[in-house]
Amino acid sequence: MTYSIDSKIIIVGSGVFGLSSALNLVKNGYKNITIFDRTDYETEKYSPLRSSDSASGDINKFFRIYYENKTLYSKLAIDALNIWEAWNKEILDLSEEDKKRFIDDDLELLRLSGGLRINNEPNLVGVELTNLEGFTELGLRDTQYNINSKRDLVRAKLTGLDRKLDVVRDLKKRNKITSISGTLDSIGRMIKADKACYYVKILLEKEGVKFIYGEAGTLKNPIYSENDKTEIKGIKTSDGLEHKADLVIISTGSWTTSLVPQLQHRIQASLANIVYLEIPKSRQDLIDKYSEYPHIQWKTTSSENDRNEGFYDGEGGFAFFPNTKKEGILKVNTRQVKYLNPTKVGNEYISIPSTLGEERLPKSVIQEAKEIFMIIAPDVVQLEGVKVRSKLLWYTDAINSDFIIDFVPNYKNLIVATGGSAHGFKFLPVLGKTVVSRVLGKSDDYTELFRWKDPENIFIDNYGLKATNIEKDERRNFFNATFVEDSDLVFTKEDLAKLDTIALK
Ligand SMILES: Cc1cc2nc3c(=O)[nH]c(=O)nc-3n(C[C@H](O)[C@H](O)[C@H](O)COP(=O)(O)OP(=O)(O)OC[C@H]3O[C@@H](n4cnc5c(N)ncnc54)[C@H](O)[C@@H]3O)c2cc1C
Repeated sequence: MTYSIDSKIIIVGSGVFGLSSALNLVKNGYKNITIFDRTDYETEKYSPLRSSDSASGDINKFFRIYYENKTLYSKLAIDALNIWEAWNKEILDLSEEDKKRFIDDDLELLRLSGGLRINNEPNLVGVELTNLEGFTELGLRDTQYNINSKRDLVRAKLTGLDRKLDVVRDLKKRNKITSISGTLDSIGRMIKADKACYYVKILLEKEGVKFIYGEAGTLKNPIYSENDKTEIKGIKTSDGLEHKADLVIISTGSWTTSLVPQLQHRIQASLANIVYLEIPKSRQDLIDKYSEYPHIQWKTTSSENDRNEGFYDGEGGFAFFPNTKKEGILKVNTRQVKYLNPTKVGNEYISIPSTLGEERLPKSVIQEAKEIFMIIAPDVVQLEGVKVRSKLLWYTDAINSDFIIDFVPNYKNLIVATGGSAHGFKFLPVLGKTVVSRVLGKSDDYTELFRWKDPENIFIDNYGLKATNIEKDERRNFFNATFVEDSDLVFTKEDLAKLDTIALK
């Protein structure tokens, strides 16, 4: 099918994939775009501390360009970075009226925090070595510091980055860990996720893109053409209205399989979590201290061997996110069991997110997060009245962790843009380029990479996507977890008594 710049385009889902689709379509002259979302992002501002429950609605995400040897992703991230840097300046040119629409905070979208990827192995693990090879191929090896290489440590001293390694020295001393190996990534950055999504929403509004939220914005079902079964006429929303469209793009993150069941065994929702710890505003000294910390990943680079032992990608280790000076919120993302929520759709069970407002996380997640805060920020956890807050989110795991941006087979005008697999956010500025290529019928490296894939050809079933009868998988069934209670959120006397002995696992 061919589309003109006036073609009516409906995008369902206003997370990173939907926003990016609209942004890049607008850049290419398309004028008639409406975005639908079940969440009212005008009031929720993509904030997880309000009631946003999408993967995109978070206080921060990490920007990295290393992708082992998948350099197409690295190149795409570099492309995205150019736009992120421009936005970081341009956001300050918004009118005062627009600036007031954001939740009160400084509007720095991107911050050069650096990132540490470490574990307790004596030497760099295989994935890290491959990452370094990838950097060498890109001509960027000097941006990386092997923390066990004397040469790299000297470079870190000379470039002033040695201070980012204080946390490693501290962990060794306090935790009595004899060996820590890993890499300091000097170009890793923190992205303010909620502000970034809201900024793109403002940019799109200025270009005439319409947003419809709430019941009126919730896709109930696509409307199929009566004469031509390969064509979609538009969508029906939960308020009962029908909306005609020439092209429908579904970018509903971890909900997408429930709306486009053909995606089964290609993408799947699995449980994610975020745990926050706000440093009281009265302790600006601690806010300043932790704002200088790098992003830290502990034991997150699983090797092929780990995968063979029955763990999925994304299980094991944790990520720690430093706070900004104004917001002052530390964040931990633990990587425990990738729980599923098997729900019967048609004849089969698929995993889809639990509904809006469901905030209960497994107790073990909160306990682990509290222990991580006790180890990394012991002076914060001892402050009077501090307690953790948490957010239950869902990952959109995809085949080979590759995004899927393609027409749904056998449909002329239905595209899916999804499959973030815990790494999609950084590509917000550029994901939609592939949507535009699809619309124009062009091919390039990325249309090939993000194509609709056949599960039979999955190279590594990294998330267990091939599994059938997921409802029988007791280990991964979300409702088999023991859930958190309010009393688990505080640091009790018993917790704090372990401060001197607690160690990273
Ligand atoms: C815990 C966690 C940590 C992550 N960390 C990073 C990181 O550090 N760096 C990075 O680059 N990436 C990271 N990611 C990945 C990144 O957040 C995702 O790839 C990205 O946000 C996914 O965007 P999306 O648009 O596909 O989905 P979502 O953000 O989930 O958006 C989907 C939207 O669809 C809407 N929707 C659902 N159903 C309907 C319906 N029926 N009708 C209308 N609207 C509907 C939802 O309300 C939602 O707004 C992380 C993800 C998670 C979960």
